[in-house]
Amino acid sequence: MNKDAKLVMELRWDPTLGEWVMVSNIRSFRPWQPTSFCPFCPGAPETGYGWKALILENRYPMLSYSPPEPQKHRFYKTSKSLGRCFVVVETPQHDLEDICDLPVEDIAYVINMVKEKQEEISKEDYAVYFLWFRNKGKEIGVSLTHPHSQIYVTPFIPTRIERELKNAEEFWNENKECLFCKIMEVEVEDRVRLLYATENWVSFLPFYAHWPFEIHTYPKRHVQLLTQLTEIEIHDLAKMLKIVLCGLKILFSKPSPYIMVLHQAPLKGDYRYYHMHIEIYGILRDEGKLKYAAGVETGGGNFTYDAVPEENASRLREKILQCSLQQ
Ligand code: ZN
Ligand code: ZN
Ligand code: FE
Repeated sequence: MNKDAKLVMELRWDPTLGEWVMVSNIRSFRPWQPTSFCPFCPGAPETGYGWKALILENRYPMLSYSPPEPQKHRFYKTSKSLGRCFVVVETPQHDLEDICDLPVEDIAYVINMVKEKQEEISKEDYAVYFLWFRNKGKEIGVSLTHPHSQIYVTPFIPTRIERELKNAEEFWNENKECLFCKIMEVEVEDRVRLLYATENWVSFLPFYAHWPFEIHTYPKRHVQLLTQLTEIEIHDLAKMLKIVLCGLKILFSKPSPYIMVLHQAPLKGDYRYYHMHIEIYGILRDEGKLKYAAGVETGGGNFTYDAVPEENASRLREKILQCSLQQ
């Protein structure tokens, strides 16, 4: 990238789909680094020593608390990329295969740290949504292998969340109950897609799964935000994640790549009809076979599922049970 290159960082509105696109060329300003260098290891410039987990500001973010002015366009709508991007370094251990290899206490420590960050960020005017997600595996495009997840604090409600909110509100108004509580009740009754249950959490492969090995984890209590969880619920969530992610990891001979995302209510406003949950998308269909979001999925927007969710749930449940017995 030449030195006169201009930093562009802005939100662009897609008027056809009615959603924002985050645009930023900041990564092209990144200085060259040897490929062996890990910015998340203890002793790196931003990490130092003596920590169990860390939340760092992403140095090459899509959103910033002091973004440049968006470009003006005669027709299209743009907006400021006002927000934050953080990296959650989950352990000092560079070679740890996945977070399920951490003790439950250490996973709980990470969740608590993210919860505290959300409490702090909620007070900021610009912060509309707090999206915590984890990309795992080079198949998902993860280049830094040191165990980490990410947080995007956005000035808008992400599209999928907006869709869930709309449907949950409609269901609430029509049936006077929570859509997610209802789904949990049905999945527990059906049993065939149930994966694991703890004191406070239920995991299942939903009836309407999109990805081959999709895991939804719901708190039994009707809560909207990560910040509403109790100490006990967080500890129990850590245990649940350890067990289901271990199950996904040993499902095939090589660890399965996955995406994990926290779905919760927007930071401000009344969303009592919503129910927070975690979604994990295991993207391998079978040994070495990736499921792609291709023509129908990306082009059309509807998923095809080349198996039967009940059968995949049973395969995954068997592995999850093995993991729970090792606990
Ligand atoms: Zn490292
Ligand atoms: Zn609910
Ligand atoms: Fe969801």
